Amino acid sequence: MGYSGFRVIKEGLFGQKGWKPVWRDPEPKAEYDAIIIGGGGHGLSTAFHLAKEHGMTNIAVLEKGYIGGGNVGRNTTIVRANYFLPGNSEFYSHSLKLWETMEQDLNYNVMHSQRGLINLFHSDGQRDAFARRGNAMVNQGDDAILLDREGVREHLPYLDFDNVRFPIYGGLYHPRGGTARHDAVAWGYARGADQRGVDIIQNCEVTGIDIENGVVKGVQTSRGAIKAKKVAIVVAGRSGQVAEMAGMRLPIESHVLQAFVTEGLKPVIDHVVSFGMGHFYISQSDKGGLVFGGDIDFYASYASRGNLPMKEHVMDAAMTLMPMIGKAKVLRSWGGIMDMTPDGSPIIDKTQTEGLFINCGWCYGGFKAVPGSGFSLAHLMATGNHHAPAAKFRLDRFRSGIGLMDEEGTGSQHNLH
Ligand SMILES: Cc1cc2nc3c(=O)[nH]c(=O)nc-3n(C[C@H](O)[C@H](O)[C@H](O)COP(=O)(O)OP(=O)(O)OC[C@H]3O[C@@H](n4cnc5c(N)ncnc54)[C@H](O)[C@@H]3O)c2cc1C
Repeated sequence: MGYSGFRVIKEGLFGQKGWKPVWRDPEPKAEYDAIIIGGGGHGLSTAFHLAKEHGMTNIAVLEKGYIGGGNVGRNTTIVRANYFLPGNSEFYSHSLKLWETMEQDLNYNVMHSQRGLINLFHSDGQRDAFARRGNAMVNQGDDAILLDREGVREHLPYLDFDNVRFPIYGGLYHPRGGTARHDAVAWGYARGADQRGVDIIQNCEVTGIDIENGVVKGVQTSRGAIKAKKVAIVVAGRSGQVAEMAGMRLPIESHVLQAFVTEGLKPVIDHVVSFGMGHFYISQSDKGGLVFGGDIDFYASYASRGNLPMKEHVMDAAMTLMPMIGKAKVLRSWGGIMDMTPDGSPIIDKTQTEGLFINCGWCYGGFKAVPGSGFSLAHLMATGNHHAPAAKFRLDRFRSGIGLMDEEGTGSQHNLH
């Protein structure tokens, strides 16, 4: 089913009765050419690109819950290409370009809004670091503008510029950064993959990975065994557990990250704003809710909910930056499980098992990576070669120490930063 303005008007006039399910609900087949474990953003995007770019359509995405129930439907929806280090920089740059054509590629409204992202800085040292990052972004072909205090005030007049602890010195403005509706991205990719013949199988948990003589043969699931020539583990916060089924111990810790949304308000925040001193970020959804978040909770967990100390920390940061927010009522908060790598950068690679691939380690920044990650993993699975923008996302960098990408400058303990 295609979408158009005409269709929306017609359905509105005739009782919305003509819409059909946007993807099938197939029974699993006995065998596929490729299986993607995990129906989050990355898994669905991988399936879509395998079908679209490489003509591989005998594929299944196996999702233990429902599409959009994982982190892809739980994040704060920020999309940007403002990474600093070679390796990350070109990957996120490529991913943002795919965002810019996604709605046309999928014929699906994901509400991608390039409203601009402003990262604030609060000291001379921080300004220098942001100037360097901005130069790296521009060298990569992306956009970055260093704003002084008055430049920030023009965009964000409601901030507390003279906070005694954290006065605002300026900000790094990334006009092509913005937001998208997170679960629509999952639905759009699911629909696009389904249209190309991919089986999307929900309520199908992978419980084992079949390996013979170092070669992957298929998976065991809650709905029976399924054979496959290629299998990809794309399960975000569950990466450690699923990789263990293949005898792998990953350099990943799973941590909780919380998010918050207020009641719907009239338009007040036009951009995505990030506070340089408190790891706080905020935007306003199209429904009017202020959507915001902060740091991970500082303990490893598989629970999709967080604890009060981090809630308090996030509210503190919000009040420091924009005291007006104290008048808004928080409607809901929730958590997701983050696959944290030691250097804060992801992994897209083959494994020691022939035919078994892994895509994980997106930490708390994997939503913006969804199109690029799927494109690059599909390339690797179909051709056997690393896609150039993702060529540095190797698993063995954690064994050798060569090629670590410590984007946040937090040393080897990114999960504790
Ligand atoms: C609160 C919060 C805020 C965030 N904010 C941002 C942001 O603003 N910008 C940004 O870029 N990123 C953000 N992120 C990070 C981003 O959401 C994740 O990095 C990304 O969504 C992870 O990839 P995914 O979509 O594939 O994960 P998921 O949607 O979690 O997909 C993994 C899927 O695997 C399934 N699965 C697990 N085990 C099995 C199994 N055994 N068998 C079958 N299926 C299985 C799960 O059910 C799940 O659906 C945020 C995350 C959270 C939680």
